[in-house]
Amino acid sequence: MIVVMKPSASQKDIDNICNIITASGQTPHISQGKETTIIGIVGDKTKVDKDILRAADGVENVVQVTESYKLANRKFHPQPTVVKVGKDDTVDPVYIGGKNFVVMSGPCAVESYEEVRSTAEAVKKSGASILRGGAYKPRTSPYSFQGLEVEGLKILSQVGRELRMPVISEVTSEEAFCNALPYLDIVQIGARNMQNFSLLKAVGKTKMPVMLKRGIAATIDEWLNAAEYILSEGNENVILCERGIRTYETSTRNTLDISAVPVIKTKSHLPIIVDPSHATGVRAYVAPLARAAAACGADGLMIETHPDPAKALSDGPQSLTFDMFDSLCKELRPITEVVGRSF
Ligand code: PEP
Ligand code: MN
Repeated sequence: MIVVMKPSASQKDIDNICNIITASGQTPHISQGKETTIIGIVGDKTKVDKDILRAADGVENVVQVTESYKLANRKFHPQPTVVKVGKDDTVDPVYIGGKNFVVMSGPCAVESYEEVRSTAEAVKKSGASILRGGAYKPRTSPYSFQGLEVEGLKILSQVGRELRMPVISEVTSEEAFCNALPYLDIVQIGARNMQNFSLLKAVGKTKMPVMLKRGIAATIDEWLNAAEYILSEGNENVILCERGIRTYETSTRNTLDISAVPVIKTKSHLPIIVDPSHATGVRAYVAPLARAAAACGADGLMIETHPDPAKALSDGPQSLTFDMFDSLCKELRPITEVVGRSF
């Protein structure tokens, strides 16, 4: 349920509504817009008397929110959320969800210092502002390269600090999350763990920015409910990432659901990044879909790059060379400009 206040409502009116909500054992969530304030109620709505709220001073309307996700819902929070990334002054801060179009790039897996450093230098020069690199790899086969784990996180963090770039890496368990906390600026929850609820809750208990990828077979509502698990624990720094879903089509690794971008923008206030690398699994399709994502309103991209994709230990076929990445960034500039973003 949400209480929409009149533009003329005073602070006293807002406090009064919050007191009514708190007295009924529920929690008020205030979203302050330029003109109107919206107060969301999370919890058992039957405990709050709608008629009392409706009759209170300064109230414009009381609206039922039928969706099961509340804090992730645009009705609760009409302004877009902007997540600040970069946990200290050793990196240049990046804002995701605002005016800037944000490109994250780097290798699928951290393999060595040289690999990460050369990739970071190249992608930064082309326009990427966040460095990615997998250290805990959720591989389909247990015999594939599983990642360098903490060793990999140390390399990623060191290179990120050397180039002043915030870093992002995936964690696959609560234990990995605890190990990763000191090294990361954004923690990634991968498609396979979108509904790992204990991991979502653990991440939710911190203030660490988290990029939540869409599950391989998840509907948008299931994805937003997964985000709600993080938000409901108190962590508001959630970024969504569309990375393709499983369909009957086999020409690409997954099917990029580009429509998820406008759907998420309608249903939620959370920023959305598109990952055309994992969506397609094919290098040649990455740039066209990256351009489409920028054109349809995504807040940014995650693109895999590698100094020598043929030798990559993971996801070589979808990794861009540095030249390909540079060309893509040049193509993105006019597109982002047309849709009113800076890149
Ligand atoms: C990744 O980004 O490295 C990854 C494994 O992605 P996904 O969870 O989307 O498969
Ligand atoms: Mn990968």
